[in-house]
Amino acid sequence: MSKTQAEFWQGRRVVVLGAARSGIAAARFLKDKGNTVSLSDSGPISGEIKAELAELGIPWEEGGHTREWLTQAEAIIASPGIPLTAKPFQWAQAEGIPVLSEIELAGQFLKIPVIAVTGSNGKTTTVTLIHALLTEAGLRAGLGGNIGTPLISFVGQELDWIVAELSSFQLETTYSFKPQIALLLNLYPNHLDRHPSMESYFEIKSRIFQAQDANDWSLSNGDNPWCQALSQHTKQPLQWFSRQAGPQVWAWIEAGQLWRQMPAGPEAVIALPELPLLGNHNQENCLAVLAISARLKIPVEAVRRALKKVTGIPHRLEKVAELQGRVFINDSKATNYLATQKALESLEPPLILIAGGRDKGGDLHPLIDLIHSRVKAVVLLGEAAPHFAQELQKREYNQISVVNTMQEAVEQAWRVSQPKDQILLSPACASYDMFHNFEERGERFKADVAALTP
Ligand code: ADP
Repeated sequence: MSKTQAEFWQGRRVVVLGAARSGIAAARFLKDKGNTVSLSDSGPISGEIKAELAELGIPWEEGGHTREWLTQAEAIIASPGIPLTAKPFQWAQAEGIPVLSEIELAGQFLKIPVIAVTGSNGKTTTVTLIHALLTEAGLRAGLGGNIGTPLISFVGQELDWIVAELSSFQLETTYSFKPQIALLLNLYPNHLDRHPSMESYFEIKSRIFQAQDANDWSLSNGDNPWCQALSQHTKQPLQWFSRQAGPQVWAWIEAGQLWRQMPAGPEAVIALPELPLLGNHNQENCLAVLAISARLKIPVEAVRRALKKVTGIPHRLEKVAELQGRVFINDSKATNYLATQKALESLEPPLILIAGGRDKGGDLHPLIDLIHSRVKAVVLLGEAAPHFAQELQKREYNQISVVNTMQEAVEQAWRVSQPKDQILLSPACASYDMFHNFEERGERFKADVAALTP
């Protein structure tokens, strides 16, 4: 379904599937190149986007896809939000119409080298750190993909590097995209609601490496069994970051410091307590960054500055307020069980946890264990609340309140708290049952905390 190249995109009939930011950017780009572009969205399209499309002369359909609209296309650009099982993909396959992501399209045109990052968790944190690293080294770097700017918008810009965050959804329809440096941070059971099996999820994540050749560099997590298993299936040998030094390990931890492997030998870069980002998981993210810094031979001072500069990222273990001895932490981005586990491991008890939302599935037991050992009270909201409550009660954990809104959750957490408690929003679930996205959920939490009147 994939075969297109830069030369293909002229005078073509193209349908963009989904009015996401990246889709609109692709539509604009292809229209500029002299293609006939239209757009189809299964839901309503906002007035703002309609105005933009009208200005570009791009017709649209909304509230559903029609077969005729799609099958008049010679190529389809798919937004990452659409499952591959959706009707439009079946129609495209039946008609032999290539379907590709905006990332794939961008890859066909970009002349700027790319550092691409994927993984179950830690992508945004790590790309933010890598971007800081390149900037501190005096390089011109763009940051985009799943966060910020769509990659297609970088075509033609004067940059030394692009740092691209890629989700597995984006990789599903990506085939020949060839990053100079590709990083798979970790693999955990996640998004199993969307992928038929772990194997297919891994196959998709390994696509970040698939078009690379001997001049490119492929990095992954030497401590993650799934990443190690995956290394059997990549064309190129993987390089590693790991908590322990070893063969092909470019960054590791030893004697309380982060180290990297330079041509001249091992180099100590920074002591663990100097890292501003909390938690073991962030040490791993920093190790990945160190490995890349070694590959690019970035001077150690620039690496230190970059690691110290990134002190916190909104909605990821973000300290938002301190009130009468209680600390409020917003980890709204924890949209799966594992992310919340990492948060609970990173913070010192006494903890009060606000969790729940749309359940993405997986094994809940490790999270229940952690709640048992580290959390003094849990406030549950959203669709997952009854299931979480039931599983906790099965383990004889009874400090549970179930509420209906974020405001009630914040007020309830406050009511049961005492000085020195940390009140953590780390939902372990997607936000779509109650909010548009995790950002809105985090902002709601912050606003409700700010409105507390003790
Ligand atoms: P992503 O962009 O992959 O969703 P983020 O950097 O936004 O990841 O972090 C989301 C959450 O995932 C964090 O709040 C943290 O709890 C958890 N996390 C971050 N880095 C890691 C990691 N290396 N391993 C496991 N969990 C992590």
